[in-house]
Amino acid sequence: MPWLKQGDAAANHPIVLAAVEMEDADDRILNECFGFVGRCATQAAAYEQDYIITVGTARHMAGSLARYNALIAAAKYCGYLTEVQVEIDGEQRKAFKLVEDNDLFHMILKAEREWNNQRKRDTRNPELTVRVRMRDGDACRYCGKSVAWGDNKSGRGATYDHINPGQGGTVDTLVVCCRECNGKRGDDPESTWKTLPVPAEPLYGPATVAFIEKHGTPVQPSYTRTPTTPAATVHPAAPAATEPPAATEYGSTPESNPDPGHRYPGSRYVGTGRDGTGQAGKGGSGQEAHPPTRPQPQNKTRRRRPRSRGRN
Ligand SMILES: [Zn+2]
Repeated sequence: MPWLKQGDAAANHPIVLAAVEMEDADDRILNECFGFVGRCATQAAAYEQDYIITVGTARHMAGSLARYNALIAAAKYCGYLTEVQVEIDGEQRKAFKLVEDNDLFHMILKAEREWNNQRKRDTRNPELTVRVRMRDGDACRYCGKSVAWGDNKSGRGATYDHINPGQGGTVDTLVVCCRECNGKRGDDPESTWKTLPVPAEPLYGPATVAFIEKHGTPVQPSYTRTPTTPAATVHPAAPAATEPPAATEYGSTPESNPDPGHRYPGSRYVGTGRDGTGQAGKGGSGQEAHPPTRPQPQNKTRRRRPRSRGRN
């Protein structure tokens, strides 16, 4: 994800248009101010300043001291930024803080980026994930429903979730989680969501068997085919089935957790796939590809082409 995004409606954002309301507005101030602040924002993002612009950066971006004074006055008037004090090298100095408005500029904060990187490291670390998947199998630890590894779109797609968002994962704090629960739970450190007990007999589908065996521990599959239709409930202790149970086998959803209510197949629900960050599609899905089978259209009738007017 880029470190700085500009909203697609930014050109006509009220803050941008406010420049023409200034008493001493001239023909150039609106675009000049937008360009000046945009360059400042780019610099702030590039150097991970979290919306803070130093006076030196602002002067450099303005091009001259005379324009700096005019542009800072305009930017303050419009609401692009406010004056703040920041500590630089142990000294309190004047600086400017850009308005945090995602319709104008959205900057990835330094802490947010570091957390994203930590999540990726954890969900790609087999030292963690093999043990997590051996323990949890193919069931979400929040709702108990079976998950599909390699499904990067639907609510039942498999992800990993950090029980303690913002903190590096351990085997104890990383769990298998469906995309729907992961998206709903979000990144709230005060979350009251509870995990289900560790399954006594985890389900191992083909993707998980292959993943675990690849890292040196053979396991027996509980089912042999990634489901494409609502599956009947099958006890994991039963002989290898073709599909995993669709509903929880390990107890009902904890009362504090909302029931995600997966839809099958090809669910149109697309969770954010977040692993507690708010970043779409970053839920750390398994890498082994088992693309969900799309339902084939049935009894599709071909529309006849109208006859051309010239024919009788
Ligand atoms: Zn779930």
